[in-house]
Amino acid sequence: MRTRFLTALALLAAPAIAEGGSQPISASVRVYRHVTLIDAISASAQPDMAVTLEGDRIRAVSSDRTYVPIPQAEEIDARGLYVLPGLIETHGHLGTQPLRRYAEAVMRRQLYGGITAARDLAGDTRFLAEIQREALLGEIPGPDIHFVALMAGPSFFSDPRTKASAQGAMPGQTAWMQAIDDRTDIPLAVAKARGTGATAIKLYANLSPRIVQRITDEAHRQGIKVWAHATVFPALPVDVVHAGVDVVSHVCSLVYQINGVRAGTYHQRRAIDPAAFAEGDSPQLAKLFSAMRRQGQVLDATLRVYARQAPIPAGPRRCDLALGARLANQAWRAGVPISAGTDGETEWSDPYPSLHEEIELLTDKAGLPPIDAIKAATVVAARAAGQEQEMGTIEPGKLANLVFVERNPLDDVSNLRSVVFTIKRGKLFRREDYRPLAKGDLDEPGLNQ
Ligand SMILES: [Zn+2]
Repeated sequence: MRTRFLTALALLAAPAIAEGGSQPISASVRVYRHVTLIDAISASAQPDMAVTLEGDRIRAVSSDRTYVPIPQAEEIDARGLYVLPGLIETHGHLGTQPLRRYAEAVMRRQLYGGITAARDLAGDTRFLAEIQREALLGEIPGPDIHFVALMAGPSFFSDPRTKASAQGAMPGQTAWMQAIDDRTDIPLAVAKARGTGATAIKLYANLSPRIVQRITDEAHRQGIKVWAHATVFPALPVDVVHAGVDVVSHVCSLVYQINGVRAGTYHQRRAIDPAAFAEGDSPQLAKLFSAMRRQGQVLDATLRVYARQAPIPAGPRRCDLALGARLANQAWRAGVPISAGTDGETEWSDPYPSLHEEIELLTDKAGLPPIDAIKAATVVAARAAGQEQEMGTIEPGKLANLVFVERNPLDDVSNLRSVVFTIKRGKLFRREDYRPLAKGDLDEPGLNQ
């Protein structure tokens, strides 16, 4: 079966990226027939479907029985395969310290692993804009990138990561990493952030509730998103949520909402008080989650961060994977949309990108049903990236961003690790053509010093 459709695929030349879908039909229509559809809209899989692509867009989705052949269209028998919207990573860092070898390796593994778009949550936007453009035009294999310009209080800019991202300039005084205080001209600061090409402003650390509110209002007035850490120190989760930011990152940062763990700055974070969580659901977080649900704010939970953090056996209690997963589960039960973001990469030797681990953690640890974990990495992630009009579901008119897998991910989300090919903006990337990473590709000299 596999040989049959791969042979059919081999006959296809990958079409050029089309602007506006104005190519003649004969040049660019492809129909994937008899495929099982998981469109991230319906809760279940739909067998024997026909998905028609034209240029870089999805043209039609129908039952294969009602499919009317299109003259000169390429037809591919995708029987036995499952098609999903291209996966979207909602928390990456490709340009903290700009390293082309590193970024290209990560992006290549992502694309061939089913990821067609990614949010980047702070880095050197001079470099991010470069790789964003190259991936968009197909000059390098990689997902679409939606990056941020960071804002934080002046005291944050002693952090070495800000120096790595501002090489050649002064950390805190660049358009992509701005130090903000009460004297800042906020409309000008937001305009500068927009000028970098950023999709959003990232509110990182050391900002007061008042400044968080002012930046958020101004950003929305100027038509740019706001993606925030759950706690911005001293601004607490309640301040961040009530300011109306679009996405809240890091589920464990929500614990700072609980009384007694208030910290003035990011670098003064303290241990948490586990007693606050001994009685089951936190009522304080319940209020927060219901506000998030009402306002449609996405929680970028990043469970993988807590799965990967080193335990401190005798040290103060940190929010660990078990607690982070419990909080994510509470948020999910409260109806908060949860997106799949990793904030880290797997080893160079791993054949798949870290997003697969996050999706698995969402089901295995946070208790989401497979369909909701899939939505976290597709339809909800598209919303987190501000791209819900363009991607995240399989619907006519959206970008032709798709991943085809061999095994049913609704049985077990780890079945997403059976990618046969990825289609991004109509362009085909066959898993069999994937060149694995080499040792050293993901080395980041100097970053942890
Ligand atoms: Zn991050």
